[in-house]
Amino acid sequence: MVSIAVYVEDDADYPRQVKEAFAERAPDIHVVDWATAMGAPDSIDYALVWMPPIGDLARLPALRAVFSLSAGVDHIVARDPDWPACLPLIRMAGEETGRLMADYLLWACISTIRGARGWALQQNERVWKRMVVTRSTADCVVGIMGLGQLGRYAARHLNRCGFAVQGWSRSPKVIEGVRTFDGAAGLEPFLAGTDILICLLPNTPQTRNIINARVLRVLRPGGAFINVGRGEHVVESDLLSALDDGVLSAAVLDVFQHEPLPVTSPLWAHPSVIVTPHIASQASVVARVDYLIGCIRSMQRGERPEQIFDISRGY
Ligand code: NAP
Repeated sequence: MVSIAVYVEDDADYPRQVKEAFAERAPDIHVVDWATAMGAPDSIDYALVWMPPIGDLARLPALRAVFSLSAGVDHIVARDPDWPACLPLIRMAGEETGRLMADYLLWACISTIRGARGWALQQNERVWKRMVVTRSTADCVVGIMGLGQLGRYAARHLNRCGFAVQGWSRSPKVIEGVRTFDGAAGLEPFLAGTDILICLLPNTPQTRNIINARVLRVLRPGGAFINVGRGEHVVESDLLSALDDGVLSAAVLDVFQHEPLPVTSPLWAHPSVIVTPHIASQASVVARVDYLIGCIRSMQRGERPEQIFDISRGY
């Protein structure tokens, strides 16, 4: 029997939910909680983790692969110097993850063009003041930084919903209906044609602090910024200055350098900022388990799952 050990920091009930879903959908795959796995480390084939205890993954000698509970893997590779880098580290993916992210981004884009934050503030004060908005999806170019599994899905979704969409990635891409740019040389022309900038990059040394004053200044006048990548991408003081100086008209932020966002952060009360608590795309337990089952089955057939972390690229 194949076994998978589960560890999810701050959610002691998650392993039970995973176990239930596996029992229903793939009863031949045995789910074990982390304490049990640590007591019988030779019997564990796979690990599914979020913020695993440092050093624990290296204590599982029969491990064949590690699954990250999220699309990002920095909660493993940036925290645990002993993570088993010789094994496949597989990022969370699947249809539901892409769809949820695309829906969040559609909501965020529409919120910026319709001034949703302003209406919420007025409502809090019971103020009835009409500000006519004539801007529509047809007037906005959305620019997506990062055309990976999530960026590509979102680009198609936003395009279908009426936005002109362009994207920027490390290597060239062809996506129907989407204008694409790549590499360092492509960044400035990409930004110069963008009204709403979305960050969907991975967190690497090359992308850290990429959203800074210089980049934000190149956007079209009155641009907006949406961050669903990682907080490390943003120079927060530059973002606040751009909002205060009118370089940016709005921001929707789901990820932050420090999470939970400290209560003292000026972002909470900023009149042009919508804050959400890192929930843009959190797939259901069942969708995640279906994805895991697909990956485990393909590895059992000797195939290589798609979303393996590439240590040389850093994502
Ligand atoms: P992915 O499949 O690895 O795609 C990454 C994209 O970024 C690729 O298109 C890649 O270019 C591009 N890229 C990487 N480094 C670059 C660089 N230096 N310059 C230009 N482009 C670069 O990632 P993903 O799964 O779509 O996830 C994207 C982000 O979303 C991650 O940061 C993840 O943590 C975050 N995320 C957030 C949530 C949430 O709820 N907020 C949920 C899931 C994921 P190439 O195509 O050329 O390789």
